[in-house]
Amino acid sequence: MKTALITGSSRGIGRAAALRLAGDGFRVVINYHTSKGEAESLLDELSARDFPGCAAVQADVSDRAQVEKMFALAGGVDVLVNNAGIAQQKLFTDLTEQDWDRMFDVDVKGIFHCCQCALPYMIHRKQGKIINISSMWGQVGASCEVHYSAAKAAVIGLTKALAKEVGPSGIQVNCVAPGVIATEMNAQLDESTLCGLKEETPLGMLGAAEDIAAAVSFLAGENSRFITGQVLGVNGGMII
Ligand code: NAP
Repeated sequence: MKTALITGSSRGIGRAAALRLAGDGFRVVINYHTSKGEAESLLDELSARDFPGCAAVQADVSDRAQVEKMFALAGGVDVLVNNAGIAQQKLFTDLTEQDWDRMFDVDVKGIFHCCQCALPYMIHRKQGKIINISSMWGQVGASCEVHYSAAKAAVIGLTKALAKEVGPSGIQVNCVAPGVIATEMNAQLDESTLCGLKEETPLGMLGAAEDIAAAVSFLAGENSRFITGQVLGVNGGMII
């Protein structure tokens, strides 16, 4: 049985991806940072649905020592989904150095740590899949989210470069770039903003966490065997 580790899977997109990959037959390792209760109830749900061997591991992905410990507990990881992320809306001129650093520590350096910890096993096995969750804002930029957009653009650059480097070892590295997805990350948006976003989207709706989980499932599965270094936009056509 193959193992999939999904960072930031206590809530939102990560949680949906964990449920989906468990359904696909993976042993799932849930990672959480602060939401212990949510991670434990997801683990309960997975065992109630008879998905064997799953585990939940606490780690702040920006902390190398915690990430190393998480991978030691997880065992060999066949599919790594780098989903953990933070967002923040602030005028560029108000951003502090601390805001900037925290954004890059979690959204970019977290992926660096997790990939470095996952790769030795994948290289040894000459197979493995890494799926990074970027954002459409990393493709086109968002006003008042300059540090977030820059970090998510960095995730795309990292994906493409790493795909070239580890392709010869049989490892695929791809990226999913979600559009607006109804999760707690967008909980601060008011009804009229959400309506505006729906109207701007050709398919006329917001995405669900399960829409991103479906893309992750495709990239984690056998049907994506010839795909690497790609950015799969899942955004209802909001950016094309
Ligand atoms: P969310 O509901 O806010 O959930 C974020 C998840 O990331 C939580 O499980 C959280 O864990 C985890 N996390 C945050 N900081 C972490 C850290 N330092 N170490 C480990 N885990 C950490 O967000 P979401 O909407 O599901 O977003 C998931 C990913 O999709 C993010 O990378 C986000 O940027 C990207 N994305 C989201 C949207 C959207 O519209 N929602 C659009 C584009 C891209 P705890 O709760 O345990 O702390």
